[in-house]
Amino acid sequence: MDAKLTSVREACSVNWWFTASKRGVDIVISASLLLLLCVPAMLTIMWRHPTQNRYFQRQAYLGRHKRIYYQYRIAPIPLHWPLQILNRPFLLEVPVLFAVLAGHLSLVGPRALALDEDDEIYQNDERFFYQPGLVCLHWIRRRSNIHFQTELEDDIDYVRTASLRSDVAILFRALITLMYGKPAERHLASESICGIRFLNIAMDELISAIMIAVGNKTITKLAFVNPDCLNLAAKNPDYAQCLQYADWVCADGIGMKIAGKILGRNIRQNVNGTDLFPRLCAAISGTKHSLYLLGAQAGVAEKVAEWISTQHPQVTVAGTHSGYFTSSEEPNLVAAIRKSGADILLVAMGAPRQEQWIQKNLAQTGAIVGIGVGGLFDFYSGRIPRAPIWLREIGGEWIYRLMQEPSRMWKRYLIGNVTFLMRIFLERSTSKSDKRNQK
Ligand code: UDP
Repeated sequence: MDAKLTSVREACSVNWWFTASKRGVDIVISASLLLLLCVPAMLTIMWRHPTQNRYFQRQAYLGRHKRIYYQYRIAPIPLHWPLQILNRPFLLEVPVLFAVLAGHLSLVGPRALALDEDDEIYQNDERFFYQPGLVCLHWIRRRSNIHFQTELEDDIDYVRTASLRSDVAILFRALITLMYGKPAERHLASESICGIRFLNIAMDELISAIMIAVGNKTITKLAFVNPDCLNLAAKNPDYAQCLQYADWVCADGIGMKIAGKILGRNIRQNVNGTDLFPRLCAAISGTKHSLYLLGAQAGVAEKVAEWISTQHPQVTVAGTHSGYFTSSEEPNLVAAIRKSGADILLVAMGAPRQEQWIQKNLAQTGAIVGIGVGGLFDFYSGRIPRAPIWLREIGGEWIYRLMQEPSRMWKRYLIGNVTFLMRIFLERSTSKSDKRNQK
């Protein structure tokens, strides 16, 4: 057994208070929910015709320490409106609460795995240290589109940090992320919102695409767009044109998921520069590909280079430069980037300036991939702390940024978010009437 697992076991056996209180919360909440839902659930069961003898479906799952247990759900039957309500998942799943009462399942924990699930998850012992949960971290992260890690990694995050406080916080976060709806199961490879077409791509696919572009020396301009960018593009035709000319545009932030939901377009993941950056560093680590950091106030890019040298010592930073320079200094800057031989140029000067700069100068810099990354350098230099993960999980990173710099951000978020939503509803009604006219 590996050392980490042993220490988790030891920590948990000592932490009897957590185990007992977790069980207490499970019993109180599952018993209350059963009381609340037993009448409609009984109606759902009793509605079945007397000839229908199969009231429940039973499935075997792996519980704590891989012990097998069974979960029951009410078997759905074909029903027409308004009785369809009796087939709603929250009613059909009511018997699952008995598994919580019996202690096989908890309210929060790693997802319950059916016996025939993926091998890699099954073989890991650590994720089975606690009872599986009705709600898990990966479930929340999938709903808020920040599921960059595998399910197993999220489960292990849970096991290593589990506490009563984190369980209660996870339950609250789960309630909030319910409003984002189910995660996209199927999606198109590209989507368009407010006239800007973007790649509907996952983070790991984007990293692979960047590595292929760098390897093949394919000049590529990458931009991330969030609701603020789309508001800007609506007012600034030059910026809108930069986004049209960009080779890849990715949907950044929870606002894009919400917009996609309103428009009936499944947005796959929140693909943004700040989450891309450490993964990109990991991907180029040990390769011959180098980075150039251009942007932010004087000294900030150098601090990011220090972060890289401690976290990813095998990544080469070819050079750094602040994002404040005059147009007469630009030719020297372009020549310096060319001389550095950098392959990937990160430009952190905010939208639209960074996209316009990349559009105008990327070819002359000699860099292969140019990426506009907004406030990324401020985060990785430590100048501005990034929102904690729990706030990102409920789609609230923008609230944190608003609180950090209210005088700069109030217009962007308080007015900008409302304007963006109005644009989206307008787009929805236009596309509905277009469809009606086509019929
Ligand atoms: N910035 C810059 N040059 C400029 C204007 C801004 O380098 O002429 C930098 C600024 O210091 C900050 C970043 O660009 O580090 C913009 O951050 P912002 O929060 O606007 O970006 P977001 O991530 O919201 O797009």
